[in-house]
Amino acid sequence: MAKTKKNRAQQRREWERRIWSALVDYANTGENNHFKTLAVDALDWIGGDADDLDECRDVKRGATLEELAARHHEDIRTMLAWLSAPQDRRRAESACRFLMRHGNAIKMTWSDTAFDTNDKDALLISEWPDEIGSVVAPVCRFIKDQIDRHDLMGEPLRDVIPIGMCDREGCGKFRVMKLNRPGHFFCSNLCKAKFHQAGKSSDEQAAYMRNYRKTLDRNKPVGGRLIVRRGRKRKARRITK
Ligand SMILES: [Zn+2]
Repeated sequence: MAKTKKNRAQQRREWERRIWSALVDYANTGENNHFKTLAVDALDWIGGDADDLDECRDVKRGATLEELAARHHEDIRTMLAWLSAPQDRRRAESACRFLMRHGNAIKMTWSDTAFDTNDKDALLISEWPDEIGSVVAPVCRFIKDQIDRHDLMGEPLRDVIPIGMCDREGCGKFRVMKLNRPGHFFCSNLCKAKFHQAGKSSDEQAAYMRNYRKTLDRNKPVGGRLIVRRGRKRKARRITK
């Protein structure tokens, strides 16, 4: 039983990180495909699925996903900027307003129909969305759920909201934190390299970049032949770079 519980917790953690990643991808690019991935993942979070996209009130009223991706991009960026640095109060008010307007616009149906009498640990209630105010409503509900875990359950902020902004000045991209540890934090290896170059002479910069490229080369997968054993037979296949 303990194993099942652990697996469920693990699955939930991976699920949450997937939604945070989709949020960061959309916030960083504003692209429609990332917005759609985010919208479907968040619908899943509240017990819906991709079919429910058409049931969202803004889509029903004729808005396309492209229009909605453009409409909400700045607000979602403001939201992530607030979450990544809540001590900076400039964005708090508008982020909270956005969160409340959309996060509150979902009506759920609760039912005990999925209860399994053969399972001692069965779920008491299953729930799914009945009315969804907008495509970003499930996204806001997800964020509010994570905030509740911090505010109400006392979980550490970065365990439940693993969002940070790249430390390179002028970059402006967000990133999902893998580990919460002190030090600088970057959206990519390139930003990390650029950050460490700042303030160095051009000779020092060139030396740094040579070293950086060497590291990249070392981390490249090695080409050549790989022997894959299957049973007693030996099969070789070519690895393509
Ligand atoms: Zn960056």
